[in-house]
Amino acid sequence: MITILNDDFSQLNNFLHEKTFSKIFILVDENTHEYCLPVLLGNMETDLGFEILEIEAGEEMKNIQTANQLWEILTEMQADRKALVINLGGGVITDMGGFVASTYKRGIQFINIPTTLLSMCDASIGGKTGIDLMHYKNMVGTFAFPEQIFIYPKFLETLPFKELRSGFAEMLKHGLIADKAHWESLIQIHKLDVEAVVPHIQTSMDIKQDVVEKDFHEKNIRKTLNFGHTIGHSIESLYLSQGNPILHGEAVAMGMICEVHLACLENLITEEDAITIIENIQRYYPYLDISDFTDENITALLLNDKKNTDSKINFSLLSGLGSCTYDYQCSQKNILKSLDFYRRLN
Ligand code: NAD
Ligand code: ZN
Repeated sequence: MITILNDDFSQLNNFLHEKTFSKIFILVDENTHEYCLPVLLGNMETDLGFEILEIEAGEEMKNIQTANQLWEILTEMQADRKALVINLGGGVITDMGGFVASTYKRGIQFINIPTTLLSMCDASIGGKTGIDLMHYKNMVGTFAFPEQIFIYPKFLETLPFKELRSGFAEMLKHGLIADKAHWESLIQIHKLDVEAVVPHIQTSMDIKQDVVEKDFHEKNIRKTLNFGHTIGHSIESLYLSQGNPILHGEAVAMGMICEVHLACLENLITEEDAITIIENIQRYYPYLDISDFTDENITALLLNDKKNTDSKINFSLLSGLGSCTYDYQCSQKNILKSLDFYRRLN
């Protein structure tokens, strides 16, 4: 269940009173420690003891070493099966905290309090947790639902612009795959800021929630959420392997542009729609330099995508403005053409 918090966090406090937890562990990174934890602690009312678990900020921390440290700390602090983990942060924290909680002692309860736009609209919802392995994104993880998700949009006020823009990519994706009206209202935004995006968060959350409810285990319609992520993830992984990570939403925006062009090459959408979509995405996102990566580099990663079956790359491609297909296999020629198309946008 998703709850938008009032300024006094009363719904969170009610939740903590109603349940019988033994202890609370609040997972933060250095930024959410500084900007969000004081707000949470200033409003949280509970008799339970709590501990703060802090990790460094950044995607590079989303790995097995960090998970191991957290499992060890939980053990040293004698967290039992009635302990509650509160994930207070962006997608790295909700993915990591959800993974650690869902595996520690075969699973303890956790809640998500997302603090980035991306985690509010996307990462905290849907029960996917996980960590990266080598330079492959989200290779190890679990399906595990948080007990609750609490959204406090005012947390966005301290979020850097680039992070806000990163989350906006997932909102655009939600509109493109499922709700033309949502897409059209998002592209009315000229100055991307907190005030402009907050009124649209609920719709994006609802789209994600709705898709997940219909297909939790990603057997069919949930795959549409991977639109932009097949090529996007491979570029994100390549940057990560260089020790030069880019933001998830920046990679997804680039991936959406390539995959919209690909859908057009495959005659799934009209050229007119493709141009409109691509021009609008370009309005918000600067060009991402992929000149360091060869077709072979990118293809090798595409072939390792989790969505693949029978060694074939499965794409989720738009079939119109507001609709999306999945398990779509494209010719290698068209995949490479879509990358070339992107390179020429520079
Ligand atoms: P993030 O967690 O790294 O947060 C981005 C940055 O913002 C970090 O530096 C963080 O410290 C800082 N920050 C967070 N909240 C802040 C605030 N209120 N004020 C100031 N700074 C703040 O990244 P993200 O973009 O939220 O999430 C990206 C991750 O989410 C990726 O690892 C991606 O794979 C994952 N993801 C998961 C799912 C899923 O379904 N599980 C979906 C989409 C993305
Ligand atoms: Zn994403």
